[in-house]
Amino acid sequence: MVLIVVGIVGFTYYAVVPATYGPMLRSGNLLKIFGSLLVVVWFTILVIMIVWSYLITVSTDPGGVPPGWHPFSDDQQARIELERLSYSNYYFDRRDPRRPRFCKRCQAWKPERAHHCSVSGRCILKMDHYCIWVINCVGLLNYKFFLLFLFYAFLGSTSCFFLLLSSMIQFLQGKLFGPSSPFIFISVILNFAFMLALAGFMIMHFQMMSANCTTIEMYEKDRIHPWPYNRGLKRNFEDVFGRSKVRWFLPFYTKEEKRLLLDSCLHQGGSSSSTKVSATSPLIHSSLNQV
Ligand SMILES: [Zn+2]
Repeated sequence: MVLIVVGIVGFTYYAVVPATYGPMLRSGNLLKIFGSLLVVVWFTILVIMIVWSYLITVSTDPGGVPPGWHPFSDDQQARIELERLSYSNYYFDRRDPRRPRFCKRCQAWKPERAHHCSVSGRCILKMDHYCIWVINCVGLLNYKFFLLFLFYAFLGSTSCFFLLLSSMIQFLQGKLFGPSSPFIFISVILNFAFMLALAGFMIMHFQMMSANCTTIEMYEKDRIHPWPYNRGLKRNFEDVFGRSKVRWFLPFYTKEEKRLLLDSCLHQGGSSSSTKVSATSPLIHSSLNQV
């Protein structure tokens, strides 16, 4: 899949730069040289950003659950809660994503918003979905990189479509010849399809991100209202992209940003001090009433 994606990007880059706008740099017309230089620089930067964010999404661990993790105040309570769970599935309010949850397949407690990924065979923090395009699970630590990949790929395919549209029309009219003309034809068709598909994906993910909701959570039939993680558009956006405006566009996290992200999943409320569920917590009391 990595070879296919990088191959499509390389194919498109060839059609736009070496086949179409690169030769215009030697045209002798100053206006043409300046215009094509802008296109070459813009498209080269876009391709670098697409490949960078793609490879980082592929290679970043989305975030697993630390061994022995549990949401309770001590190990003994974790054992007691596990025994209780074994005889009643309705001990906790199942609509509440903040309830203590146990993964039967991993045989371990999992934090709120974590889900078991059947492809990678482990629980993933704030799991969004398993993506075949990035052959990786998209979760807490690579969701930003995945969104940046969608964003840059959308910009790239849209740019390619409009930059090559006039060449495509010339090709269809039989006025464009040469060995590179099939590259232009295929690139325009391919990128038109990607442009539409990526626009749909981007709108969908923007809606979910603005509500601080993952794809899995969005498709859950029964959810509590109001959604406890929705803290307003700005904070929901910063939860994924961080607070530094410069780094919003770059596919990496600083050590501090990564620590805060892990903290927000492993300790409720994003605080560095643990606020684990204790025997007196309201969550357990409300759940006990249902037993
Ligand atoms: Zn699991």
